[in-house]
Amino acid sequence: MPDEQVEELKFPIDFDACPKCGSKRKVAQELIEQEKKKGKAGEDMRGAVIVQRTLIADGRRTLLSALMLTAMIEICYDCGTLYCVHAETAITQIQTGAPMPKGGPTQFKFLPGSPGHN
Ligand SMILES: [Zn+2]
Repeated sequence: MPDEQVEELKFPIDFDACPKCGSKRKVAQELIEQEKKKGKAGEDMRGAVIVQRTLIADGRRTLLSALMLTAMIEICYDCGTLYCVHAETAITQIQTGAPMPKGGPTQFKFLPGSPGHN
């Protein structure tokens, strides 16, 4: 519906505690902290059990840029629940190849007299 007001989502979204048990202990985050203490990881290292990137783009449209949604999923150390700890969006440039013929490839027509089209 064009008249319907769509509330824009606000990013980043952060969840610090397990939605099931309330624990703030996270498996990947604690492993990263351990590695930092051993000097095997830089102080600025971030991570999660799953880092999922999803391009929010309609493949039927020609776009030069689109939204990239990044979601970081963790495992609760105390109860094993998988949950999202962080989600953010960023504008990403879409790589395009050589310029398409005017009208796009599906409307390309062979010229009269072209080889193979007698
Ligand atoms: Zn939990």
